[in-house]
Amino acid sequence: MTDAYDNPFERYTYKSDLIEQIRAADGRASFGRVTVRTARSFGFCWGVDRAVAMVWDTLAEHPDRPIWLLDQIIHNPRVNADFKSKGVRFIRGPFAVDDGGPREPQRDDIVVIPAFSATVEDTRWLQGIGCTIVDTTCPWVIKPHKRSQRYVKDGFTTLIHGLVHHEETHASCSLIASEGGRFIVVADREQASWVCDTIRSSITFEELARRLPDDALSSGFAEEHLHQLGTINQTTMLAAETRQIEADVRAAMSERYADDDITDHFRELNTICGATQDNQDSVVALVEEGVLDLMVVVGGYDSSNTRNLTRVGADHFPSYHVDGPGVIASDTIRHRCPEKGTFVDTNDWLPAGDVVIGFTAGASTPDALLAETIERVLSVAGESVEVAR
Ligand code: SF4
Repeated sequence: MTDAYDNPFERYTYKSDLIEQIRAADGRASFGRVTVRTARSFGFCWGVDRAVAMVWDTLAEHPDRPIWLLDQIIHNPRVNADFKSKGVRFIRGPFAVDDGGPREPQRDDIVVIPAFSATVEDTRWLQGIGCTIVDTTCPWVIKPHKRSQRYVKDGFTTLIHGLVHHEETHASCSLIASEGGRFIVVADREQASWVCDTIRSSITFEELARRLPDDALSSGFAEEHLHQLGTINQTTMLAAETRQIEADVRAAMSERYADDDITDHFRELNTICGATQDNQDSVVALVEEGVLDLMVVVGGYDSSNTRNLTRVGADHFPSYHVDGPGVIASDTIRHRCPEKGTFVDTNDWLPAGDVVIGFTAGASTPDALLAETIERVLSVAGESVEVAR
């Protein structure tokens, strides 16, 4: 890492000489018995870069004012810890602490809204306090918001492919409800199949409501609200899965309303962001080369897009989602299962002899953290990296 962590005025760039070298070599580097391959596109996306820069700008421009983050700025523990070390307080989330200091912002304070956006309730609360709001919401997140507002206006229910407790989806649900609309959230194709079964009357609406997670249906949702559905997706979901879900729901609607114009009952819009799509396409391309023995995906465990990158590789070879070098040892790697969300210790994870390892990183993962993870893997393999720093 090129940054001076002890300089309170220096912002961290999170860049890495090693990663720059690998990028310049078209994503290929050999270190003894280990060949490292990286996806063509990985790591910090434009929206994350922008949000992080806005916090640094706020710190630099207002050194004398208390600065708060509503919650994690992005889903990467290191970046959030860095801001915390600079005196930023978190209103909620894993970085909020009860240290005897203030728990809520005051009128003269500054509050930063994360890249995921904020709920309507939180925005109104902050406006009521009268504090200064710095809104880092990624413009890509605005796209599903605008589309869902259109659905509400047209009397359609918004079907969201997303994670019901993810901040972005939470904010979308809040917006829809505040405008008098309805939503239903499905996390994957299985949950979407329950919606399709209900449309086809194969299961009752009560059974659907029982199966879905808490908060997946807007308040007062009834069976009739499934008659007109319009889709959006959380910007970081798996694009291929979204397409499958849309095809499944369209087919169910076509069966149920065979005599009607389908657009009276079903509309769709892919709201996956460009960066997520690029990162996923890049991993698909790397997988399709057929040269990898395993893959290491680096990113925060709350990160939806990192989880989905892991899912791409997991169908083909061992694919390990780790949050950094600390969980990698010579005999064991501790990683997060992308399907169950549980943590797994895998022994003998690194094959003997020559090995080709794919690496990628989620949109909120600093290059420096990916570099440290690569260096750790090389060390475990008995190899080392010499990089001009
Ligand atoms: S992953 Fe996409 S939506 Fe999220 S911050 Fe990055 S560019 Fe924006």
